Amino acid sequence: MEHLRFEDMNLSPEICRAILDMGFEETTPIQAEAIPPILEGRDVIGQSQTGTGKTAAFGIPCLENIDETDRSLQAVILCPTRELAIQVSEEFRKLLKYKDNIRVLPIYGGQPIDRQIVALKKGVQIIIGTPGRVMDHMRRHTLKMDHVRMMVLDEADEMLDMGFREDIETILVKVPAEHQTLLFSATLSPEILDITKRFQNDPVFVKIVRKELTVPNIEQYYFDVKEKNKLDALTRMIDIYDPKLALVFCNTKKRVDDLVEALQGRGYFAEGLHGDLKQPQRDKVMQKFRNGTIELLVATDVAARGIDVDDVDIVFNYDVPQDEEYYVHRIGRTGRAGRSGKAFTFCVGKEIYKLRDIMRYTKTKIIQQKLPTLTDVETMKTNLFLDQIREILKEERLGSYMDTVESMMGEEYTAMDVAAALLKYNISAFKVDDSDILDDINLGGTELYGGDSEKMVRVFLNVGKKQKVRAKDIVGAIANEAGVPGKALGAINLYDDYTFVDVPHEYLRDVMVAMKNCRIKNKKVHAEIAKKEKNKHR
Ligand code: ADP
Ligand code: MG
Repeated sequence: MEHLRFEDMNLSPEICRAILDMGFEETTPIQAEAIPPILEGRDVIGQSQTGTGKTAAFGIPCLENIDETDRSLQAVILCPTRELAIQVSEEFRKLLKYKDNIRVLPIYGGQPIDRQIVALKKGVQIIIGTPGRVMDHMRRHTLKMDHVRMMVLDEADEMLDMGFREDIETILVKVPAEHQTLLFSATLSPEILDITKRFQNDPVFVKIVRKELTVPNIEQYYFDVKEKNKLDALTRMIDIYDPKLALVFCNTKKRVDDLVEALQGRGYFAEGLHGDLKQPQRDKVMQKFRNGTIELLVATDVAARGIDVDDVDIVFNYDVPQDEEYYVHRIGRTGRAGRSGKAFTFCVGKEIYKLRDIMRYTKTKIIQQKLPTLTDVETMKTNLFLDQIREILKEERLGSYMDTVESMMGEEYTAMDVAAALLKYNISAFKVDDSDILDDINLGGTELYGGDSEKMVRVFLNVGKKQKVRAKDIVGAIANEAGVPGKALGAINLYDDYTFVDVPHEYLRDVMVAMKNCRIKNKKVHAEIAKKEKNKHR
Protein backbone atom coordinates (compact mmCIF):
# COMPACT_ATOMS: atom_id res chain seq x y z
CA MET A 1 0.00 0.00 0.00
CA GLU A 2 1.11 3.51 -0.81
CA HIS A 3 2.06 5.81 2.01
CA LEU A 4 -0.95 8.09 2.13
CA ARG A 5 -0.51 11.73 2.87
CA PHE A 6 -2.18 13.03 6.01
CA GLU A 7 -3.66 15.80 3.87
CA ASP A 8 -5.65 13.20 1.94
CA MET A 9 -7.34 11.81 5.02
CA ASN A 10 -9.97 14.46 5.61
CA LEU A 11 -8.59 15.37 9.00
CA SER A 12 -9.56 18.55 10.80
CA PRO A 13 -7.30 21.55 10.18
CA GLU A 14 -6.23 21.61 13.86
CA ILE A 15 -4.96 18.05 13.74
CA CYS A 16 -3.29 18.61 10.36
CA ARG A 17 -1.45 21.59 11.76
CA ALA A 18 -0.32 19.65 14.82
CA ILE A 19 0.94 16.80 12.64
CA LEU A 20 2.85 19.31 10.59
CA ASP A 21 4.42 20.71 13.76
CA MET A 22 5.41 17.21 14.80
CA GLY A 23 7.33 16.89 11.58
CA PHE A 24 5.50 13.88 10.19
CA GLU A 25 5.79 13.99 6.43
CA GLU A 26 3.63 11.08 5.51
CA THR A 27 1.73 8.31 7.16
CA THR A 28 3.47 5.16 8.23
CA PRO A 29 1.93 2.01 6.72
CA ILE A 30 0.00 1.14 9.88
CA GLN A 31 -1.40 4.67 9.97
CA ALA A 32 -2.35 4.60 6.30
CA GLU A 33 -4.30 1.40 6.76
CA ALA A 34 -5.74 1.83 10.23
CA ILE A 35 -6.84 5.47 10.35
CA PRO A 36 -9.54 5.33 7.61
CA PRO A 37 -11.50 2.38 9.05
CA ILE A 38 -11.24 3.81 12.57
CA LEU A 39 -12.63 7.11 11.32
CA GLU A 40 -15.51 5.14 9.80
CA GLY A 41 -16.28 3.74 13.22
CA ARG A 42 -15.03 0.21 12.61
CA ASP A 43 -13.25 -1.97 15.17
CA VAL A 44 -9.64 -2.50 14.20
CA ILE A 45 -6.83 -4.91 15.05
CA GLY A 46 -3.52 -3.30 14.13
CA GLN A 47 -0.28 -5.22 14.07
CA SER A 48 3.08 -3.72 13.29
CA GLN A 49 6.47 -3.66 14.87
CA THR A 50 7.64 -1.28 17.56
CA GLY A 51 8.40 2.21 16.38
CA THR A 52 6.05 2.22 13.42
CA GLY A 53 3.70 4.88 14.73
CA LYS A 54 0.88 2.88 16.25
CA THR A 55 0.16 5.61 18.78
CA ALA A 56 -0.79 8.15 16.13
CA ALA A 57 -2.61 5.41 14.19
CA PHE A 58 -5.23 5.29 16.92
CA GLY A 59 -4.52 8.71 18.43
CA ILE A 60 -5.44 10.76 15.37
CA PRO A 61 -8.86 9.17 14.73
CA CYS A 62 -9.53 9.05 18.47
CA LEU A 63 -9.08 12.80 18.75
CA GLU A 64 -11.18 13.37 15.64
CA ASN A 65 -14.03 11.40 17.19
CA ILE A 66 -14.14 13.28 20.47
CA ASP A 67 -17.12 15.55 20.97
CA GLU A 68 -15.47 18.71 22.25
CA THR A 69 -18.68 20.14 23.61
CA ASP A 70 -19.16 17.15 25.89
CA ARG A 71 -16.91 17.05 28.96
CA SER A 72 -17.61 13.45 29.86
CA LEU A 73 -15.18 10.59 29.43
CA GLN A 74 -15.30 9.35 25.84
CA ALA A 75 -12.18 7.29 25.23
CA VAL A 76 -10.11 4.96 27.39
CA ILE A 77 -6.67 3.81 26.31
CA LEU A 78 -5.10 0.95 28.20
CA CYS A 79 -1.31 0.63 28.26
CA PRO A 80 0.89 -1.94 29.97
CA THR A 81 3.16 0.38 31.94
CA ARG A 82 3.33 3.78 33.43
CA GLU A 83 6.10 4.85 31.04
CA LEU A 84 3.96 3.92 28.08
CA ALA A 85 0.93 5.67 29.49
CA ILE A 86 3.00 8.82 29.86
CA GLN A 87 4.51 8.44 26.42
CA VAL A 88 1.16 7.94 24.76
CA SER A 89 -0.33 10.91 26.55
CA GLU A 90 2.62 13.05 25.48
CA GLU A 91 1.98 12.06 21.87
CA PHE A 92 -1.71 12.89 22.36
CA ARG A 93 -0.86 16.28 23.79
CA LYS A 94 1.22 17.08 20.74
CA LEU A 95 -1.58 15.96 18.45
CA LEU A 96 -4.20 18.10 20.18
CA LYS A 97 -2.01 21.17 20.39
CA TYR A 98 -4.62 23.21 18.48
CA LYS A 99 -7.69 21.48 19.91
CA ASP A 100 -8.29 23.65 22.93
CA ASN A 101 -11.28 21.80 24.30
CA ILE A 102 -9.97 18.28 24.61
CA ARG A 103 -8.52 17.09 27.89
CA VAL A 104 -6.33 14.04 28.29
CA LEU A 105 -5.16 12.52 31.54
CA PRO A 106 -2.70 9.70 32.14
CA ILE A 107 -3.58 7.60 35.18
CA TYR A 108 -1.33 4.97 36.58
CA GLY A 109 -0.32 3.33 39.80
CA GLY A 110 2.25 5.00 41.95
CA GLN A 111 0.79 8.45 41.58
CA PRO A 112 -1.43 9.62 44.46
CA ILE A 113 -4.96 8.61 43.58
CA ASP A 114 -6.43 11.76 45.18
CA ARG A 115 -4.66 13.94 42.71
CA GLN A 116 -6.03 11.86 39.85
CA ILE A 117 -9.52 12.10 41.31
CA VAL A 118 -9.30 15.89 41.45
CA ALA A 119 -8.08 15.99 37.86
CA LEU A 120 -10.84 13.64 36.72
CA LYS A 121 -13.52 15.79 38.36
CA LYS A 122 -12.55 18.69 36.13
CA GLY A 123 -13.84 16.75 33.15
CA VAL A 124 -11.50 14.67 31.07
CA GLN A 125 -12.55 13.21 27.72
CA ILE A 126 -9.66 10.79 27.28
CA ILE A 127 -7.79 8.77 29.85
CA ILE A 128 -4.66 6.82 29.18
CA GLY A 129 -3.96 4.38 31.93
CA THR A 130 -2.67 1.10 33.20
CA PRO A 131 -5.36 -1.56 33.72
CA GLY A 132 -4.85 -1.81 37.49
CA ARG A 133 -5.34 1.86 38.16
CA VAL A 134 -8.24 2.17 35.74
CA MET A 135 -10.06 -0.63 37.57
CA ASP A 136 -9.31 1.06 40.83
CA HIS A 137 -11.03 4.22 39.65
CA MET A 138 -13.96 2.29 38.24
CA ARG A 139 -14.49 0.63 41.62
CA ARG A 140 -14.44 4.03 43.26
CA HIS A 141 -16.83 5.36 40.63
CA THR A 142 -14.40 8.15 39.88
CA LEU A 143 -14.41 7.05 36.26
CA LYS A 144 -17.80 7.15 34.60
CA MET A 145 -17.81 4.77 31.70
CA ASP A 146 -21.34 5.44 30.40
CA HIS A 147 -20.29 7.85 27.67
CA VAL A 148 -17.23 5.91 26.56
CA ARG A 149 -17.34 5.41 22.82
CA MET A 150 -13.84 4.14 22.20
CA MET A 151 -11.65 1.59 23.96
CA VAL A 152 -8.05 1.10 22.89
CA LEU A 153 -5.76 -1.73 23.97
CA ASP A 154 -2.28 -0.48 23.20
CA GLU A 155 0.67 -2.88 23.15
CA ALA A 156 -1.80 -5.67 23.83
CA ASP A 157 0.82 -8.41 23.67
CA GLU A 158 2.76 -6.78 26.42
CA MET A 159 -0.29 -6.27 28.60
CA LEU A 160 -1.05 -9.97 28.35
CA ASP A 161 2.59 -10.85 29.03
CA MET A 162 2.32 -8.84 32.18
CA GLY A 163 -0.74 -10.72 33.33
CA PHE A 164 -3.37 -8.07 32.75
CA ARG A 165 -5.82 -10.30 30.90
CA GLU A 166 -8.40 -10.53 33.66
CA ASP A 167 -8.20 -6.83 34.41
CA ILE A 168 -8.69 -5.98 30.76
CA GLU A 169 -11.71 -8.22 30.53
CA THR A 170 -13.19 -6.79 33.70
CA ILE A 171 -12.86 -3.31 32.25
CA LEU A 172 -14.21 -4.18 28.81
CA VAL A 173 -17.30 -5.83 30.28
CA LYS A 174 -18.22 -2.53 31.96
CA VAL A 175 -18.13 -0.41 28.82
CA PRO A 176 -21.51 0.40 27.24
CA ALA A 177 -22.46 -1.84 24.37
CA GLU A 178 -22.30 0.87 21.77
CA HIS A 179 -18.61 1.56 21.33
CA GLN A 180 -15.58 1.02 19.14
CA THR A 181 -12.76 -1.29 20.30
CA LEU A 182 -9.27 -0.96 18.89
CA LEU A 183 -6.37 -3.23 19.59
CA PHE A 184 -2.76 -2.55 18.69
CA SER A 185 0.14 -4.85 19.19
CA ALA A 186 3.56 -5.74 17.81
CA THR A 187 2.73 -9.43 17.89
CA LEU A 188 -0.55 -11.31 17.97
CA SER A 189 -0.95 -14.37 20.14
CA PRO A 190 -3.94 -16.71 20.23
CA GLU A 191 -4.78 -15.14 23.58
CA ILE A 192 -5.12 -11.75 21.95
CA LEU A 193 -7.29 -13.20 19.24
CA ASP A 194 -9.54 -14.63 21.99
CA ILE A 195 -10.03 -11.17 23.37
CA THR A 196 -10.78 -9.70 19.99
CA LYS A 197 -13.36 -12.43 19.35
CA ARG A 198 -15.10 -11.66 22.60
CA PHE A 199 -14.97 -7.92 22.54
CA GLN A 200 -14.66 -6.76 18.96
CA ASN A 201 -17.36 -6.55 16.40
CA ASP A 202 -16.36 -7.65 12.90
CA PRO A 203 -12.91 -6.07 13.21
CA VAL A 204 -10.81 -4.89 10.30
CA PHE A 205 -7.47 -6.67 10.55
CA VAL A 206 -4.54 -4.47 9.58
CA LYS A 207 -1.25 -6.27 9.52
CA ILE A 208 1.88 -4.70 8.22
CA VAL A 209 3.66 -7.63 6.70
CA ARG A 210 7.02 -8.86 7.82
CA LYS A 211 8.79 -7.58 4.76
CA GLU A 212 8.19 -4.09 5.99
CA LEU A 213 9.46 -5.03 9.43
CA THR A 214 12.93 -4.58 8.07
CA VAL A 215 14.32 -1.34 9.29
CA PRO A 216 16.01 0.63 6.56
CA ASN A 217 18.90 2.98 6.97
CA ILE A 218 20.73 0.94 9.53
CA GLU A 219 24.19 -0.44 9.13
CA GLN A 220 24.26 -3.89 10.65
CA TYR A 221 27.44 -5.64 11.69
CA TYR A 222 28.40 -8.60 13.78
CA PHE A 223 31.53 -9.58 15.63
CA ASP A 224 32.71 -13.07 16.24
CA VAL A 225 33.71 -12.90 19.93
CA LYS A 226 34.35 -15.12 22.90
CA GLU A 227 31.95 -14.75 25.78
CA LYS A 228 34.69 -13.57 28.11
CA ASN A 229 35.75 -10.84 25.69
CA LYS A 230 32.34 -9.28 25.23
CA LEU A 231 32.78 -6.60 27.85
CA ASP A 232 36.09 -5.47 26.42
CA ALA A 233 34.63 -5.53 22.94
CA LEU A 234 31.69 -3.41 24.05
CA THR A 235 33.72 -0.78 25.87
CA ARG A 236 36.16 -0.58 22.99
CA MET A 237 33.33 0.07 20.55
CA ILE A 238 31.90 2.69 22.85
CA ASP A 239 35.26 4.39 23.15
CA ILE A 240 35.63 4.45 19.39
CA TYR A 241 32.14 5.57 18.43
CA ASP A 242 31.52 7.66 21.51
CA PRO A 243 27.72 7.44 21.12
CA LYS A 244 25.59 10.03 22.86
CA LEU A 245 23.10 7.32 23.60
CA ALA A 246 23.43 3.61 23.04
CA LEU A 247 21.03 0.81 23.82
CA VAL A 248 22.53 -2.52 24.83
CA PHE A 249 20.35 -5.61 24.76
CA CYS A 250 20.85 -8.71 26.89
CA ASN A 251 18.73 -11.83 26.90
CA THR A 252 18.08 -12.04 30.64
CA LYS A 253 17.59 -9.79 33.64
CA LYS A 254 20.65 -11.24 35.30
CA ARG A 255 22.76 -10.43 32.28
CA VAL A 256 21.49 -6.87 32.41
CA ASP A 257 22.40 -6.49 36.08
CA ASP A 258 25.84 -8.01 35.62
CA LEU A 259 26.67 -5.89 32.61
CA VAL A 260 25.49 -2.67 34.22
CA GLU A 261 27.65 -3.37 37.23
CA ALA A 262 30.69 -4.11 35.08
CA LEU A 263 30.19 -0.99 32.98
CA GLN A 264 29.70 1.24 35.99
CA GLY A 265 32.84 -0.26 37.48
CA ARG A 266 34.69 0.94 34.43
CA GLY A 267 33.32 4.41 34.81
CA TYR A 268 30.66 4.37 32.10
CA PHE A 269 27.30 6.00 32.71
CA ALA A 270 25.21 2.89 32.34
CA GLU A 271 21.84 1.93 33.78
CA GLY A 272 19.71 -1.15 33.42
CA LEU A 273 16.05 -1.64 32.66
CA HIS A 274 14.21 -4.91 33.21
CA GLY A 275 11.02 -6.37 34.53
CA ASP A 276 12.20 -6.82 38.13
CA LEU A 277 12.70 -3.13 38.70
CA LYS A 278 10.15 -1.37 40.84
CA GLN A 279 8.28 1.49 39.28
CA PRO A 280 10.22 4.29 41.01
CA GLN A 281 13.50 2.74 39.86
CA ARG A 282 12.26 2.49 36.30
CA ASP A 283 11.12 6.08 36.42
CA LYS A 284 14.51 7.18 37.63
CA VAL A 285 16.27 5.34 34.86
CA MET A 286 13.96 6.70 32.19
CA GLN A 287 14.34 10.18 33.58
CA LYS A 288 18.12 9.92 33.40
CA PHE A 289 17.90 8.47 29.93
CA ARG A 290 15.73 11.32 28.71
CA ASN A 291 17.83 14.09 30.16
CA GLY A 292 21.00 12.56 28.83
CA THR A 293 22.77 11.64 32.05
CA ILE A 294 23.04 8.04 30.86
CA GLU A 295 25.12 7.11 27.85
CA LEU A 296 24.27 3.44 27.94
CA LEU A 297 20.91 1.86 28.63
CA VAL A 298 21.15 -1.88 29.14
CA ALA A 299 17.82 -3.65 28.74
CA THR A 300 15.93 -6.85 28.14
CA ASP A 301 13.60 -7.09 25.18
CA VAL A 302 10.39 -6.84 27.14
CA ALA A 303 11.59 -3.91 29.23
CA ALA A 304 12.69 -1.94 26.19
CA ARG A 305 9.71 -2.70 24.04
CA GLY A 306 7.43 0.18 23.34
CA ILE A 307 9.61 2.68 25.12
CA ASP A 308 10.07 5.52 22.76
CA VAL A 309 13.50 7.01 22.91
CA ASP A 310 14.87 8.97 20.02
CA ASP A 311 18.47 9.70 19.28
CA VAL A 312 19.80 6.24 19.93
CA ASP A 313 22.97 6.23 17.88
CA ILE A 314 23.86 2.60 18.29
CA VAL A 315 22.14 -0.60 19.28
CA PHE A 316 24.31 -3.37 20.64
CA ASN A 317 23.10 -6.92 20.78
CA TYR A 318 25.31 -8.02 23.64
CA ASP A 319 23.54 -11.34 23.25
CA VAL A 320 22.16 -12.63 19.98
CA PRO A 321 18.38 -12.41 20.44
CA GLN A 322 16.50 -15.66 20.86
CA ASP A 323 13.76 -14.64 18.51
CA GLU A 324 14.23 -13.24 15.03
CA GLU A 325 11.47 -10.75 15.55
CA TYR A 326 13.28 -9.43 18.64
CA TYR A 327 16.24 -8.62 16.48
CA VAL A 328 14.13 -6.40 14.30
CA HIS A 329 12.54 -4.72 17.29
CA ARG A 330 15.91 -4.13 18.88
CA ILE A 331 17.66 -2.57 15.94
CA GLY A 332 14.53 -0.57 15.16
CA ARG A 333 15.45 1.57 18.14
CA THR A 334 18.15 3.29 16.16
CA GLY A 335 17.90 5.05 12.84
CA ARG A 336 14.45 6.39 13.60
CA ALA A 337 12.75 9.05 11.58
CA GLY A 338 15.21 8.91 8.75
CA ARG A 339 18.32 9.23 10.89
CA SER A 340 21.11 6.81 10.24
CA GLY A 341 21.93 4.28 12.89
CA LYS A 342 24.16 1.36 13.57
CA ALA A 343 23.56 -2.06 15.03
CA PHE A 344 26.32 -4.34 16.31
CA THR A 345 25.74 -7.91 17.31
CA PHE A 346 28.15 -9.99 19.38
CA CYS A 347 28.08 -13.51 18.16
CA VAL A 348 29.68 -16.41 20.02
CA GLY A 349 30.60 -19.54 18.06
CA LYS A 350 27.55 -21.43 16.85
CA GLU A 351 25.26 -18.47 17.30
CA ILE A 352 26.19 -17.62 13.73
CA TYR A 353 23.39 -20.03 12.72
CA LYS A 354 20.85 -17.92 14.58
CA LEU A 355 22.25 -14.89 12.88
CA ARG A 356 21.84 -16.52 9.48
CA ASP A 357 18.17 -17.14 10.29
CA ILE A 358 17.82 -13.52 11.21
CA MET A 359 19.38 -12.44 7.93
CA ARG A 360 17.04 -14.65 6.00
CA TYR A 361 14.06 -13.35 7.91
CA THR A 362 14.91 -9.68 7.65
CA LYS A 363 16.24 -10.08 4.12
CA THR A 364 19.23 -7.95 5.00
CA LYS A 365 22.92 -8.53 5.29
CA ILE A 366 24.63 -8.39 8.62
CA ILE A 367 28.25 -7.89 7.78
CA GLN A 368 31.06 -9.41 9.75
CA GLN A 369 33.51 -6.92 11.15
CA LYS A 370 36.78 -7.37 12.95
CA LEU A 371 36.87 -6.04 16.44
CA PRO A 372 38.95 -2.91 16.60
CA THR A 373 42.33 -3.53 18.18
CA LEU A 374 43.66 -1.30 20.90
CA THR A 375 45.86 0.25 18.26
CA ASP A 376 42.76 1.06 16.20
CA VAL A 377 41.22 2.77 19.20
CA GLU A 378 44.37 4.77 19.62
CA THR A 379 44.66 5.67 15.94
CA MET A 380 41.04 6.74 15.89
CA LYS A 381 41.51 8.96 18.91
CA THR A 382 44.75 10.40 17.58
CA ASN A 383 42.97 11.23 14.34
CA LEU A 384 40.14 12.86 16.22
CA PHE A 385 42.63 14.89 18.18
CA LEU A 386 44.50 15.94 15.07
CA ASP A 387 41.21 16.97 13.47
CA GLN A 388 40.55 19.20 16.43
CA ILE A 389 43.99 20.72 16.06
CA ARG A 390 43.31 21.40 12.38
CA GLU A 391 40.07 23.14 13.32
CA ILE A 392 41.90 25.31 15.82
CA LEU A 393 44.58 26.15 13.28
CA LYS A 394 41.89 27.16 10.82
CA GLU A 395 39.72 29.23 13.08
CA GLU A 396 41.57 30.71 15.96
CA ARG A 397 44.14 33.31 16.61
CA LEU A 398 46.99 31.83 18.53
CA GLY A 399 49.03 34.95 19.23
CA SER A 400 49.65 34.57 22.95
CA TYR A 401 50.29 30.85 22.61
CA MET A 402 52.80 31.61 19.89
CA ASP A 403 54.69 33.72 22.38
CA THR A 404 54.88 30.85 24.82
CA VAL A 405 56.18 28.51 22.17
CA GLU A 406 58.66 31.12 21.10
CA SER A 407 59.96 31.46 24.63
CA MET A 408 60.46 27.69 24.75
CA MET A 409 62.45 27.93 21.57
CA GLY A 410 64.69 30.26 23.51
CA GLU A 411 65.37 27.18 25.66
CA GLU A 412 66.81 25.53 22.57
CA TYR A 413 63.79 23.49 21.58
CA THR A 414 62.53 23.64 18.05
CA ALA A 415 58.87 24.27 17.26
CA MET A 416 58.77 20.68 16.08
CA ASP A 417 60.02 19.43 19.48
CA VAL A 418 57.36 21.41 21.26
CA ALA A 419 54.60 20.20 18.97
CA ALA A 420 55.68 16.59 19.31
CA ALA A 421 55.85 16.86 23.09
CA LEU A 422 52.39 18.38 23.25
CA LEU A 423 51.06 15.60 21.07
CA LYS A 424 52.63 12.99 23.29
CA TYR A 425 51.22 14.67 26.38
CA ASN A 426 47.72 14.60 24.98
CA ILE A 427 47.74 11.26 23.35
CA SER A 428 49.44 9.35 26.11
CA ALA A 429 46.29 9.94 28.13
CA PHE A 430 44.59 7.25 26.11
CA LYS A 431 47.57 5.33 24.87
CA VAL A 432 47.00 1.72 25.68
CA ASP A 433 50.22 0.21 24.53
CA ASP A 434 52.04 -0.79 27.69
CA SER A 435 55.61 -0.61 26.41
CA ASP A 436 56.12 2.75 28.07
CA ILE A 437 54.92 1.27 31.31
CA LEU A 438 57.37 -1.55 31.05
CA ASP A 439 60.09 0.97 30.29
CA ASP A 440 59.20 2.84 33.41
CA ILE A 441 59.13 -0.26 35.51
CA ASN A 442 62.36 -1.53 34.08
CA LEU A 443 64.13 1.69 34.84
CA GLY A 444 64.98 -0.03 38.07
CA GLY A 445 63.81 0.35 41.60
CA THR A 446 66.30 3.06 42.43
CA GLU A 447 64.63 5.64 40.23
CA LEU A 448 61.18 4.84 41.50
CA TYR A 449 59.88 6.85 44.33
CA GLY A 450 59.44 4.38 47.13
CA GLY A 451 56.12 4.95 48.81
CA ASP A 452 55.38 3.97 52.37
CA SER A 453 57.71 1.05 52.22
CA GLU A 454 60.35 -0.40 49.99
CA LYS A 455 57.82 -2.65 48.31
CA MET A 456 55.46 0.12 47.33
CA VAL A 457 55.63 2.25 44.25
CA ARG A 458 53.95 5.61 44.20
CA VAL A 459 51.59 6.15 41.28
CA PHE A 460 50.37 9.53 40.12
CA LEU A 461 46.78 9.86 38.85
CA ASN A 462 45.51 13.03 37.20
CA VAL A 463 42.24 13.14 39.13
CA GLY A 464 41.69 14.61 42.53
CA LYS A 465 39.36 16.40 44.90
CA LYS A 466 38.19 18.87 42.29
CA GLN A 467 36.73 16.00 40.30
CA LYS A 468 35.00 14.90 43.51
CA VAL A 469 37.13 11.80 43.61
CA ARG A 470 37.31 10.07 46.96
CA ALA A 471 39.78 7.47 48.15
CA LYS A 472 37.15 4.80 47.79
CA ASP A 473 36.68 5.65 44.10
CA ILE A 474 40.38 5.07 43.55
CA VAL A 475 40.35 1.82 45.50
CA GLY A 476 37.24 0.73 43.63
CA ALA A 477 38.68 1.50 40.22
CA ILE A 478 41.92 -0.28 40.93
CA ALA A 479 40.12 -3.24 42.43
CA ASN A 480 37.72 -3.53 39.50
CA GLU A 481 40.10 -2.85 36.71
CA ALA A 482 43.30 -4.45 37.87
CA GLY A 483 41.87 -6.99 40.24
CA VAL A 484 44.01 -5.69 43.06
CA PRO A 485 42.45 -6.11 46.48
CA GLY A 486 41.85 -2.74 48.14
CA LYS A 487 43.71 -3.69 51.29
CA ALA A 488 46.87 -4.38 49.29
CA LEU A 489 47.13 -0.71 48.41
CA GLY A 490 49.17 1.68 50.49
CA ALA A 491 48.63 5.33 51.25
CA ILE A 492 46.28 7.35 49.05
CA ASN A 493 46.93 11.07 49.07
CA LEU A 494 44.29 13.23 47.43
CA TYR A 495 45.12 16.71 46.19
CA ASP A 496 42.97 19.13 44.23
CA ASP A 497 43.93 17.97 40.76
CA TYR A 498 45.79 14.76 41.32
CA THR A 499 46.25 11.82 43.59
CA PHE A 500 49.12 9.67 44.71
CA VAL A 501 48.49 6.07 45.49
CA ASP A 502 51.04 3.56 46.71
CA VAL A 503 50.85 0.30 44.81
CA PRO A 504 52.72 -2.90 45.70
CA HIS A 505 55.48 -3.54 43.17
CA GLU A 506 54.04 -6.88 42.16
CA TYR A 507 50.77 -5.27 41.09
CA LEU A 508 52.33 -2.24 39.45
CA ARG A 509 52.13 -3.44 35.89
CA ASP A 510 48.51 -4.56 36.21
CA VAL A 511 47.53 -1.28 37.73
CA MET A 512 49.32 0.79 35.13
CA VAL A 513 47.83 -1.17 32.23
CA ALA A 514 44.35 -1.07 33.75
CA MET A 515 44.52 2.66 34.49
CA LYS A 516 45.32 3.42 30.88
CA ASN A 517 41.89 2.21 29.91
CA CYS A 518 39.78 3.39 32.76
CA ARG A 519 37.64 6.26 33.88
CA ILE A 520 37.15 7.53 37.38
CA LYS A 521 34.13 9.81 37.85
CA ASN A 522 33.82 9.62 34.11
CA LYS A 523 37.16 11.21 33.56
CA LYS A 524 39.72 9.31 31.54
CA VAL A 525 42.55 8.66 33.91
CA HIS A 526 46.15 9.27 33.17
CA ALA A 527 48.48 7.31 35.43
CA GLU A 528 52.19 7.71 35.78
CA ILE A 529 54.76 6.23 38.01
CA ALA A 530 55.97 8.98 40.28
CA LYS A 531 59.69 9.44 39.85
CA LYS A 532 61.91 11.17 42.30
CA GLU A 533 63.20 14.32 40.74
CA LYS A 534 61.89 14.83 37.27
CA ASN A 535 58.46 16.31 37.63
CA LYS A 536 56.94 19.28 39.31
CA HIS A 537 54.16 17.29 40.95
CA ARG A 538 56.45 14.93 42.63
P1 ADP B 1 4.83 2.16 18.14
O1 ADP B 1 3.69 2.38 19.10
O2 ADP B 1 4.39 1.49 16.87
O3 ADP B 1 5.99 1.45 18.77
P2 ADP B 1 5.13 5.01 18.29
O4 ADP B 1 3.73 5.39 18.14
O5 ADP B 1 5.70 5.04 19.67
O6 ADP B 1 5.38 3.57 17.67
O7 ADP B 1 6.01 5.92 17.29
C1 ADP B 1 7.40 5.87 17.25
C2 ADP B 1 7.96 7.23 16.87
O8 ADP B 1 7.64 7.54 15.52
C3 ADP B 1 7.41 8.37 17.70
O9 ADP B 1 8.47 9.23 18.04
C4 ADP B 1 6.42 9.04 16.79
O10 ADP B 1 6.28 10.41 17.10
C5 ADP B 1 7.07 8.83 15.43
N1 ADP B 1 6.09 8.83 14.33
C6 ADP B 1 4.83 8.36 14.35
N2 ADP B 1 4.23 8.52 13.15
C7 ADP B 1 5.13 9.13 12.35
C8 ADP B 1 5.11 9.57 10.99
N3 ADP B 1 4.02 9.41 10.24
N4 ADP B 1 6.22 10.15 10.50
C9 ADP B 1 7.31 10.31 11.28
N5 ADP B 1 7.41 9.91 12.57
C10 ADP B 1 6.33 9.32 13.10
MG1 MG C 1 3.32 1.97 20.97
